[in-house]
Amino acid sequence: MSENIKWGMVIDVSKCIACHACTASCRIENKLSTDQNRSWVIETEVGAYPNVHVLKVAQLCNHCEKTPCVEACPVAATGKNEEGIVFVDKEKCIGCYACVEACPYGARIKDQEAKKVDKCDFCAHRLENGLLPVCISTCTTQARYFGDLNDPNSLVSKLLKENKYEVLLPEKELEPNVYYIGIEEYKNFGK
Ligand code: SF4
Ligand code: SF4
Repeated sequence: MSENIKWGMVIDVSKCIACHACTASCRIENKLSTDQNRSWVIETEVGAYPNVHVLKVAQLCNHCEKTPCVEACPVAATGKNEEGIVFVDKEKCIGCYACVEACPYGARIKDQEAKKVDKCDFCAHRLENGLLPVCISTCTTQARYFGDLNDPNSLVSKLLKENKYEVLLPEKELEPNVYYIGIEEYKNFGK
């Protein structure tokens, strides 16, 4: 690992089978209700009949470099820590949901009952104990990878060096730290 860790994720969409193990295990690990998702999978058809493929794109907070969500909070209840994790301090959160509106990825959950916001924190409690985020550990096809983006020898850095990659909503220019590989082969699917 590098001296200045920057946690990030690489997701290989060509491997994802939309089994939703990541979504389910995240809910259990983080004690979410069945209508709350810190991690979810979107399925989109690409191509045209009879050459159709269902692209599965697993999503979560991108732990962006630029954080309109953090800037929107009126009580400094959300921030980005020194390892790049965008977190919510629930003690401070007043449930105004300004951050929810500010995130273009829909990555923040309104917990209406608790009047708080919830979101992915890369399973910070597991990282502290030397474990991977639970979505990484439970992915049935090993389509997700996690590690230190500042370490050139980490698996995530090597994957980004060796593969073409994309981020979601690049036009927002928030510099996400969740990257997608394996998309290229589906770009012109069925054409
Ligand atoms: Fe903030 Fe949304 Fe980016 Fe996460 S994905 S850091 S909640 S703007
Ligand atoms: Fe801040 Fe909570 Fe309001 Fe989000 S909902 S802006 S974290 S106080």
